[in-house]
Amino acid sequence: MVTVKNEEQISAMRKAGRVLRDTLLLLEEHAKVGISTAELDRIAYEYIKKEGGVPSFLNYGGFPASVCISLDEEVVHGIPSKKKILKDGMLVKFDCGVGMYGVHTDAARTVCVGNVSSEKRKLAEVTKESFFEGMKVLKAGTRLGTLGHTIQSYAEKYGYGVVRDLVGHGIGTSVHEDPNVPNFGTEGRGMRLFENMTIAVEPMINLGTYEVYCKDDGWTIVTDDGKASAHYENTVVIKQDGVEILTL
Ligand code: MG
Ligand code: MG
Repeated sequence: MVTVKNEEQISAMRKAGRVLRDTLLLLEEHAKVGISTAELDRIAYEYIKKEGGVPSFLNYGGFPASVCISLDEEVVHGIPSKKKILKDGMLVKFDCGVGMYGVHTDAARTVCVGNVSSEKRKLAEVTKESFFEGMKVLKAGTRLGTLGHTIQSYAEKYGYGVVRDLVGHGIGTSVHEDPNVPNFGTEGRGMRLFENMTIAVEPMINLGTYEVYCKDDGWTIVTDDGKASAHYENTVVIKQDGVEILTL
């Protein structure tokens, strides 16, 4: 069921979104060679708690941590571990959710650790840019296919693979709500978005093939060809003439 949010809910999401934005900035600051992903997860958990928020992903569907931390060829849903240590040249993706007053926000960033190859650095930049290209066409009345097409065509210009198996989503009283928000599509097709709908837009872009699979841990999604992947996400409110980004 697709819902629109009232002012009270949007205001609560704005507050949660600020905590999430600052959590991701804190993670970025600590994303240095030698730190474990478990330690980064602990830093995020403590910050969110201190700010009066709830880590939306902790125990969500059984996920055992507050942040999905995915390295290089891992696309999303990486599980933090003491054994996973950031190394020079890695791309690390932080995907986190913060809840407050019964509503949730969801956002992700890709961070370069130390000296990252120009190829991977460019992938991270273009992934972020593809999100903002999508924002240029997003407002009340925009069709989901037009949003997806805009993101897809921007990323594919660079020869990258746009992940199909995972998509953005509605968000609000639950972390994942209708509708699905694909990063690919056909211009002018799909559902029209309404004012005061809240959605998470999240391009997941691969250096090589768009094909991905889930590892034996039941969570971690990785690229089929083992090449790097990048992710960039924000929670946004649809407005009459554009969007308000809640997690930036
Ligand atoms: Mg997310
Ligand atoms: Mg999401």
